[in-house]
Amino acid sequence: MIKLHDKFFKPFITAKQIDDAITRMAEQIAVDFADEVPVFIGVLNGSFMVVSDFVKKYPKPCEVTFIKLASYEGVKSTEDIQRLIGLTQDLSGRSVVILEDIIDTGGTLAEIHRIFKNENVKSLTIATLFYKPTAYKKDFKLHYVGIEIPDKFIVGYGLDYDGLGRNLPEVYQIKTTQHMTNLVLFGPPGAGKGTQA
Ligand code: 5GP
Ligand code: MG
Ligand code: MG
Repeated sequence: MIKLHDKFFKPFITAKQIDDAITRMAEQIAVDFADEVPVFIGVLNGSFMVVSDFVKKYPKPCEVTFIKLASYEGVKSTEDIQRLIGLTQDLSGRSVVILEDIIDTGGTLAEIHRIFKNENVKSLTIATLFYKPTAYKKDFKLHYVGIEIPDKFIVGYGLDYDGLGRNLPEVYQIKTTQHMTNLVLFGPPGAGKGTQA
């Protein structure tokens, strides 16, 4: 267990599981874009580790660049997305693949679609390492998803809690309070799977 600022986090996804998911995505995307030289665009800050590991696994020529958006305050997503660094190159006619660390409400993704609406790209493909299906509120298609996770705050592998945790090579999940844990532990008879009182 680790502590960042005021909160505790427990181990959740290992570096090996992350590595496997990224390898699968890179290999699949290389097959699907066999005849093209895609432009991979990472969404800073969170996706810097995903992009770095992903492109090392990508077996063919490709381009890599970044945009910088921010939506998170503390441990809650806000719909107020700020565009801090926009597109700096002409992408008309190109096959663009967005590389995201995590898709939560989809607010950031909506902003990405707004950014690309007026670019004449050949295609816009979305790939994300983590995805919280129960938190997702939009209809945009997610073309490649590494690992689906529950709607709980995570840190590590590029993801931060108020600036801390990005350097962790594996992912940690916010620890439920002791009070909540007790509710589960001392729940009604039969609540614990496979046990007979
Ligand atoms: P969305 O706009 O889809 O709600 O959230 C996307 C962005 O919010 C991500 O790129 C990431 O920066 C941040 N985010 C979403 N869920 C989490 C989470 O569980 N942990 C952390 N650290 N950041 C998250
Ligand atoms: Mg992100
Ligand atoms: Mg953040």
